[in-house]
Amino acid sequence: MRILVTGGAGFIGSHLCEQLINEGHDVICLDNFFTGRRENILHLLDNARFELLRHDVIEPILLEVDQIYNLACPASPIHYQYNPVKTVKTSVMGMINMLGLAKRVRARILQASTSEVYGDPLVHPQPEEYWGNVNPIGIRSCYDEGKRIAETLMMDYHRQNHVDTRIARIFNTYGPRMLENDGRVVSNFVVQALQGQPLTLYGAGDQTRSFCYVDDLVRALIKLMNTDGLHEPVNLGNPTEFTIKQLASEVMEVCKSKSELVHLPLPDDDPRQRKPDISRAQTLLGWTPTIQLRAGLERTVNYFRPRILGEPGSVG
Ligand code: NAD
Ligand code: UDP
Repeated sequence: MRILVTGGAGFIGSHLCEQLINEGHDVICLDNFFTGRRENILHLLDNARFELLRHDVIEPILLEVDQIYNLACPASPIHYQYNPVKTVKTSVMGMINMLGLAKRVRARILQASTSEVYGDPLVHPQPEEYWGNVNPIGIRSCYDEGKRIAETLMMDYHRQNHVDTRIARIFNTYGPRMLENDGRVVSNFVVQALQGQPLTLYGAGDQTRSFCYVDDLVRALIKLMNTDGLHEPVNLGNPTEFTIKQLASEVMEVCKSKSELVHLPLPDDDPRQRKPDISRAQTLLGWTPTIQLRAGLERTVNYFRPRILGEPGSVG
C-alpha cells in the first residue's frame, strides 16, 4: 500500500513510518517540522519506499494514497500552547483537509486522538463511552477541544460521506525520539536525572498517568487501521497507573541518579488522574501492551544518555 503519515517526522510518527516501511509499504511522510526533526527520519531518507514532504496540514494537498495516519499536531503542552490558535487550526483545518483527501481518493483514515478528550475525568478508569470533563476556555482547550472536534468531523464524514474512519484515543506515550526540550514529564525527568538537575514535580506529584511505550502504541495503531468496520473510538494506552512521584523515583533508579526533587506549581487544568480502560482494544484488536515501565524507561534512557552526556550509545 501507499500510506501517508502526517506528523511523520515527530516522535510517534517517525516510529510509525519506520514500522510501515519494515512491513513493505510505501510511505509518504508529511510534516511542517514544528516539533518534528529530520534527524528522526534520517535513517529512512535513502530508502526507495520513503518520501518526505514539507507541508502544513492546514493547507489542502492532493496525493494518491490508500491509507492516511493523521498525526500532525504538537502533543506537548508547552508546544501546543505556544501558538494555541495554530493548534486549533491544525486539528480542525488539518482534519478537514485530510478527510477531504480520504473522501476524494477513497483512502482509509486514522486520526491520532487523545485521552485529553476526557479532560479532567470524573470517571476512572476511562472507557470510550465516557464523554469527558473538558474546560472549553482554558489553556489546554486549544488541544483538547481541537481533538474533540476532529473526532466529530471523523464521525460526520463517516456517516455523511461513508469515509472509512478509525479513531485512536492515545494515552501518554513515551520513548526514544521525544525532544529533549519537549516539556512532557518522561523526557523532562530523564534529561534532568541524567544531568543531575532536580526533577521538577508539578504540584504534590500525586496526580496519576499511565505510560505506554512507543513500540506497543505503534503496533496498536497499525492493528486498528487494519481492522474492518471499527469506526468508534478505541483507547490505546498502558493501563498500569503511576503517580508522577512514583515515575520520578523509577527514572532516578534507571538513571542511577542522585537528583533531588523540586516542587513547582501545578499548571491550570492539569488532569488529576488518568488510566485507560483498554477492554475494547483487547477484545476487538487482540492487543495488549507488553513493555512495562521499567523496560521502556531503560530503552528511553539509552537513547537520551549519549545525547545528554555526549557518550557513545544508541542512535534510537
Ligand atoms: P510530536 O510533537 O513529536 O509530533 C507531531 C508532529 O506533527 C511533529 O513532527 C510536527 O512537526 C508535526 N506537525 C505539527 N503541526 C503540523 C502541521 N500543522 N502540519 C504538518 N505537520 C505538523 O508529538 P507525538 O507525541 O509524536 O504525537 C503525535 C500525535 O499523537 C499527535 O497528533 C498527538 O496529539 C497524538 N497523541 C500523542 C500522545 C503522546 O503521549 N505522545 C498522546 C495522545 C495523542
Ligand atoms: N509534570 C511534572 N513535571 C514535569 C512535566 C510534567 O510533574 O516536568 C506533570 C504534569 O503536571 C502532569 C503529568 O506530569 O500532571 C504529565 O504531564 P505531561 O505534560 O507529560 O502530559 P499530560 O499532562 O498532557 O498528560
